[in-house]
Amino acid sequence: MADESSVRVAVRIRPQTPAEVVEGCGICARAGGPAGEGGVALGSERAFTFDYAFEPSCCQQAVYDTCVRKLVEAALDGYNATVLAYGQTGSGKTYTMGSGWEGEGDGDEERRGIIPRAIRDLFAGAEARADEARAQGQLPPEFSVQAQFIELYNEDIVDLLDPAKDPFAKGALRITEDGCGGVRIVGASMRAVRGAQEALGALRAGALARTTAATNMNSSSSRSHAVFTLLLRQRRLAPDQDTSVDRDADSEAPEQYETLTAKFHFVDLAGSERLKRTGATGERAKEGISINCGLLALGNVISALGDRSRKVLHVPYRDSKLTRLLQDSLGGNSNTVMIACVSPSDRDFMETLNTLKYANRAR
Ligand code: ADP
Ligand code: MG
Repeated sequence: MADESSVRVAVRIRPQTPAEVVEGCGICARAGGPAGEGGVALGSERAFTFDYAFEPSCCQQAVYDTCVRKLVEAALDGYNATVLAYGQTGSGKTYTMGSGWEGEGDGDEERRGIIPRAIRDLFAGAEARADEARAQGQLPPEFSVQAQFIELYNEDIVDLLDPAKDPFAKGALRITEDGCGGVRIVGASMRAVRGAQEALGALRAGALARTTAATNMNSSSSRSHAVFTLLLRQRRLAPDQDTSVDRDADSEAPEQYETLTAKFHFVDLAGSERLKRTGATGERAKEGISINCGLLALGNVISALGDRSRKVLHVPYRDSKLTRLLQDSLGGNSNTVMIACVSPSDRDFMETLNTLKYANRAR
């Protein structure tokens, strides 16, 4: 996906909830409108343009096909990717990502979110590539996939695949950079997953741990960022070699293998209403400040990356754990999609305006 900008921004307007319908909320956010395709109109006065805009009737499949499918293909070619869901609590982030414990859509295929769809396509794509190589008499590439699921809460990292681990043991989990631009979390579980079912199992286990931890810590998912990561390794014959396999030949041509890796992050961000919490005290203030810092830093990073006019020399990755963690999968050769989720209802006008402004900056 060699493209002008590796950052794409989409806005998704969810349908009104039954409660909003019952309470007779008016509708203030619409896709299309005067700005046309990719346009979002808010009230009668404001219009924004994004790479994609999804109206409330837009289904999960269409969102996935438009924003994410190509990133999965690129990951199979070794390109890192990040998909982020941004928006106020209740705007549809978890539904869109499929990062809740019901992410599989309760068995309802239609409701299935981005992560389970990407998991299926990733494994199917790996298989298809191996089949293709075999059909051409070539050695098939060998894929291996690992899953990680962590939560960033108050700048602490919680391992959702090993919830027994004490998340508050200082320094138990920390982010390190390998000096070659790679980033990883020391101490976090990396679960080898041999197929879509196992990867989905890791997703579900982590999502369940997240809701349990939230109850125990008297917190909620609106205050933390959930990051589900798939690490894809591929061992294949290096290109520019004679890749045909002649099984009957005695001569053993030395084969050159190469290993490609790609990291795919799926991020269900903390509720954006936390970006500007004011008047909070004590523990809540601490929370407000640090979450603030992740969303704020992310906005600055994405804005710097998406800047097509100025030459931005400094991308401020180091300003938060969230952006440090994502830095090798944002910008550069990576593909990034931010999906800003909004409510259509007029009572959420101000939050929706804030989200559209944030997303607009990112573009
Ligand atoms: P968030 O994660 O941003 O707090 P949720 O994903 O939990 O929000 O969504 C809030 C509610 O709205 C949930 O009940 C969810 O099922 C529903 N919802 C969100 N987006 C959609 C959509 N596009 N279609 C149908 N229901 C949706
Ligand atoms: Mg959520």
